[in-house]
Amino acid sequence: MNEVLDAVRAKNPEQREFHQAVDEVFHSIQPVLDRHPEFRRAKVFERLVEPERQVMFRVAWTDDRGEVQVNRGFRVQFSSVIGPYKGGLRFHPSVSLGVVKFLGFEQILKNALTGLPMGGAKGGADFDPKGKSEGEVMRFCQAFATELWRHIGADTDVPAGDIGVGGREVGFMAGQYRRLANRWDGTFTGKGLSFGGSLVRTEATGYGLLYFTEEMLRARNESMQGKSVVVSGSGNVSIYAVQKAQQLGAKVVAMSDSDGFVHDPTGIRLDTIRDIKEVRRGRIREYCDRHQEAKYTPGRGLWRLSCDVALPCATQNELDGDDALALIKNGCKVVAEGANMPCTPEAVHAFLEHRLAFGPAKAANAGGVATSGLEMQQNSMRESWSFADVDRRLMQIMKNVHATCASTAAQYGKPGNLVDGANIAGFHKVAQAMLAQGVM
Ligand code: GLU
Repeated sequence: MNEVLDAVRAKNPEQREFHQAVDEVFHSIQPVLDRHPEFRRAKVFERLVEPERQVMFRVAWTDDRGEVQVNRGFRVQFSSVIGPYKGGLRFHPSVSLGVVKFLGFEQILKNALTGLPMGGAKGGADFDPKGKSEGEVMRFCQAFATELWRHIGADTDVPAGDIGVGGREVGFMAGQYRRLANRWDGTFTGKGLSFGGSLVRTEATGYGLLYFTEEMLRARNESMQGKSVVVSGSGNVSIYAVQKAQQLGAKVVAMSDSDGFVHDPTGIRLDTIRDIKEVRRGRIREYCDRHQEAKYTPGRGLWRLSCDVALPCATQNELDGDDALALIKNGCKVVAEGANMPCTPEAVHAFLEHRLAFGPAKAANAGGVATSGLEMQQNSMRESWSFADVDRRLMQIMKNVHATCASTAAQYGKPGNLVDGANIAGFHKVAQAMLAQGVM
């Protein structure tokens, strides 16, 4: 069966992150293929690794100096077998076809785990929002949506945010979509509250991550109360992960951005972080200007701090094998992934070998897309639910995702291995749907 992986490599050269995502799932699902020879016969995995459709396009726009800029846009519509394509858009200079495909592939299984009818997709552009004016961001988003709109729709493909794409960018794209399509429908999620957005969507990935982490701890008869926590990143996922961790009685001692990290042994003051990151779009080092007890360190030494719980919420492959060993040595007991694939395969291996509680991204960060699913439901019903109502549904979904992963892992003789649990449960659901719908 390693032929399958060789074929993926040969057909998709240089898509390193995509290979990594496929390898991981492939290794988990061998026992499912053994139990279900019909999946093997129908070449379900071989079909799943080939996206149903991929779009790559030019995005040309004019910057504030009047200079023409050209970026590359992507939308990879990976699988619509259990629902309309669904997944975020990432605007970051590192975005390439390989990165979008790794994200899209993970999204298929993540969305399946939520229990909601959503297929998997991902998109984005190699546009760098850093240092761009509001007008430049708007013109870029409009140019991007001018091509994207013909490929999407409320029952076809529903994009949302990811790194570099938040409420502001979704607003610009949803507006341009509405103008071109001449329809108001729920084609984007993560919209503003005045035009069909859902309460809790902003907080959802971070809150969901903590609901999932609480479940992991509960399985060990523990809770977040009194735990010391390190969270990487300071974007949307990190901020609301910190907020919920603090609400649950934990102490968050460090956060980071792409330049370095702040360590505040007295506990991170989230309003300062939010002012720096959400209001002024500044750098995290500014935190120390306001809090003398905190220390800023440039570079990536964050995972050398000691903590009970580590929550990588920044980006792919930000936590490697050496970082994992340092965390383990310093007494860390729980790791849950808020970002997509933040831990390298070596790091994941170390965590599982040392019997840490490890929550893989496609389960632990499913709260974001799950709440997007709730936004789609509200849009279809022309309703808006209260914060408490959406939050309660999100919490229930995260509990279900954890229970599904844990019981699947146990069923396949891997108790406590949520990586295999998530991959097997997600794959099994998608594979069954593919089998039922015939060869395509
Ligand atoms: N980008 C988020 C993720 O990785 C959310 C996607 C969505 O809401 O569609 O799951």
